[in-house]
Amino acid sequence: LSGLLAGKRGLIMGVANNRSIAWGIARAARDAGAELALTWQGTALKKRVEPLAGELDAFMAGDCDVTDLESIDTVFDALEKKWGKIDFVVHAIAFSDKDELTGRYLDTSRDNFTRTMDISVYSFTAIAKRAERIMNDGGSMVTLTYYGAEKVMPHYNVMGVAKAALEASVRYLAVDLGGRGIRVNAISAGPIKTLAASGIGDFRYILKWNEYNAPLKRTVTIEEVGKSALYMLSDLSTGVTGEVHHVDSGYHTVGMKAVDAPDI
Ligand code: NAD
Repeated sequence: LSGLLAGKRGLIMGVANNRSIAWGIARAARDAGAELALTWQGTALKKRVEPLAGELDAFMAGDCDVTDLESIDTVFDALEKKWGKIDFVVHAIAFSDKDELTGRYLDTSRDNFTRTMDISVYSFTAIAKRAERIMNDGGSMVTLTYYGAEKVMPHYNVMGVAKAALEASVRYLAVDLGGRGIRVNAISAGPIKTLAASGIGDFRYILKWNEYNAPLKRTVTIEEVGKSALYMLSDLSTGVTGEVHHVDSGYHTVGMKAVDAPDI
């Protein structure tokens, strides 16, 4: 796989630490020969992201809070100045108030609904719009989603509604950008213990439940999501767009889950 992304340049958004899914993708992309740029969110995370960027020889493209559209503009201006054109973008960004990632979806507040949709859904569209301007024809955009978009998962609540909207955005963006051969896809990752996931109620239980019920009898790693992202980011998938690709040990294929998991 070492030359799969040789000569390609891409932006990866959403690295918070070395457990982030975005980090698994960044490492895989770098190993495959890509030149990378990373963003970070705020000065606290910059301290974590900077040494990680150093490990991959990646360009620190800017502090980007996606609720601030000007900060997205600044990142794309910096990329244009540095490289001229880019070949791919990875969006691994989501947020919701953790007090509402437990209990009933019915109790979601309007403020948190709007904020969750803004950060977790609209940001991908805002980023795609800016990426279009400097992306080479045949480029690739990838976002991260979860099975809670398709089926009700305990505690996932408003984030499930947001992921459903994100997956719909992938299809609309795929049509808008398809004329230039730019592809837009999502990876639906199985549960992985990350900073964002730690905000979801009973997350340990969800991990165990997946381990017990997935065909592969285990959860997935950020390295495995990274390897699958290589397919979406590279020319291996030039015929694929508007797709939601599951990297979840097959969990989504199982209709009848076991009632009791012995080790939960
Ligand atoms: P993570 O905490 O490592 O990454 C989440 C990232 O979102 C962080 O880098 C954070 O800085 C960024 N972010 C949040 N609000 C932001 C804002 N306003 N502006 C800019 N960045 C912001 O967690 P992760 O699990 O690697 O999450 C990455 C993506 O993967 C998310 O979209 C998440 O929903 C998705 N996902 C995670 C899992 C899982 O189980 N961990 C499963 C499926 C999908």
